[in-house]
Amino acid sequence: MLNFNLSKKQLEIQQKARAFALKEILPVAWYYDEKDELPLPVLRKAFDMGLMNNDIPKKYGGNEYGILEGAIMTEEIAAACPGLATSLFDNSLGAEPLILCRNEALKKKYLPKLIKSFKLICFATSEPIMGSDVAGMRCKAVRDGTDYILNGTKYWITNGGVADYFSVFATEDPKSGHEGVGAFLVEKSWEGVSVGKAIPKLGQRCSNTAGLRLKNVRVPKINVIAPPGEGFKLAMKTFSRTRPVVGAFGVGGARSAMEFAIDYAKKRTAFGSKIGDFQAVQFKIAEMYQKVETARLLVWKAAWEADQGLDPTINASIAKFFATETALEVVNEALQILGGYGYTKMFPLEKLFRDIRLLRIYEGTSEIQRMIVSAHAMYAYQPIMPALEDLPVFRDRNPLEPGKKNSGKPAWRCRMCGHIHHGKKPPKECPYCFFPASTFKKMDR
Ligand SMILES: Cc1cc2nc3c(=O)[nH]c(=O)nc-3n(C[C@H](O)[C@H](O)[C@H](O)COP(=O)(O)OP(=O)(O)OC[C@H]3O[C@@H](n4cnc5c(N)ncnc54)[C@H](O)[C@@H]3O)c2cc1C
Repeated sequence: MLNFNLSKKQLEIQQKARAFALKEILPVAWYYDEKDELPLPVLRKAFDMGLMNNDIPKKYGGNEYGILEGAIMTEEIAAACPGLATSLFDNSLGAEPLILCRNEALKKKYLPKLIKSFKLICFATSEPIMGSDVAGMRCKAVRDGTDYILNGTKYWITNGGVADYFSVFATEDPKSGHEGVGAFLVEKSWEGVSVGKAIPKLGQRCSNTAGLRLKNVRVPKINVIAPPGEGFKLAMKTFSRTRPVVGAFGVGGARSAMEFAIDYAKKRTAFGSKIGDFQAVQFKIAEMYQKVETARLLVWKAAWEADQGLDPTINASIAKFFATETALEVVNEALQILGGYGYTKMFPLEKLFRDIRLLRIYEGTSEIQRMIVSAHAMYAYQPIMPALEDLPVFRDRNPLEPGKKNSGKPAWRCRMCGHIHHGKKPPKECPYCFFPASTFKKMDR
């Protein structure tokens, strides 16, 4: 049975995240955005309130929430500040390779630490010269006995400037593509690890983004998340579980933008009427509402698939690019409804517009999601309809009614123009496109 009701536990999670977002995040979001600073005290409070690291399995002290619970929670946080949602959720992204990996000793060593005290862990695949092309990374992991020595630079790392731990992806051989990629848990305090200055950004200024330099960093065997050869798959598996939640960032931001636009449309007067009385504005609101609802359904479906143990890769990509692109459309139209005020820093749309713009870029750009989905649609998806050349397009007779014109005669379809010929043999050439008899295919009766 299909059921879209949230469980009692999920409703509680939603209420808890919503209350925190309204009380602790919304009042400070613009202040930290202006300062271009991650609100660490708010993150710490979120940790104290049990709003972080909930996906860690129970055997390591966590709550073992599903991706769906993560999406429900994140929508609420992002509704107040998408930048802070990025920082808060980053621990889930950073810890996911650990949760998924086979190194039990490593899980036992680090996952309980994330539960017991306020620690930040981030995820590092991107480098200054590559982001989308994960297999093209240059950061090197050279084996030394049972240890690995890391050398290279990671870039764009969310929470990079403040994190305690890094899930670093590096390659044994930059020429070996995805086959050389491994993953390693690196501590900030280790010799050879240094972080760059916070990268100034257009939006999501409440999240810290920084580079990470690794200079002869020795990683002991126990800290190998995945040996070279297994890291690329692990990164992709991680993304397919975190992309639905990035979609939820979009749903949350778009929902707020829509609510602000509705509020304004009900109050602003022009030409003697409330602007919300104009059908042009009402239709914009209808489309915003439709986009928020459809995006949430896609996000929840992909999250549900992940929680059922199904492969969520395709629906995670669909949810990510649909929810993040429609979120930008919703914020854009909401800003339009607020007219000139929408464009000012005194109203919330300007920040939402800047914050939401990022969602199309990180965790795989919209273009990369389209590549994943189109490859699936074209080469893996099993069609229901027959191939075009086998399609029974009989316009001159009903093939299911025997005894009618041409019944009993074989049918031949021209593979070029679609013409159907009835006869024992195909015609010498097609009377429409003049292609020869060899172009005709005998059709199944
Ligand atoms: C604020 C912020 C936070 C981030 N946080 C993290 C993080 O925590 N950890 C991390 O590892 N990374 C992080 N990233 C990096 C992010 O994942 C990359 O920026 C993203 O994957 C795109 O990579 P790129 O910037 O190198 O662009 P490129 O890969 O160089 O792509 C440039 C453009 O070309 C397009 N393109 C590339 N290849 C193709 C193709 N084959 N077909 C069609 N179009 C293509 C892209 O879609 C894009 O439009 C973050 C980025 C930002 C901006």
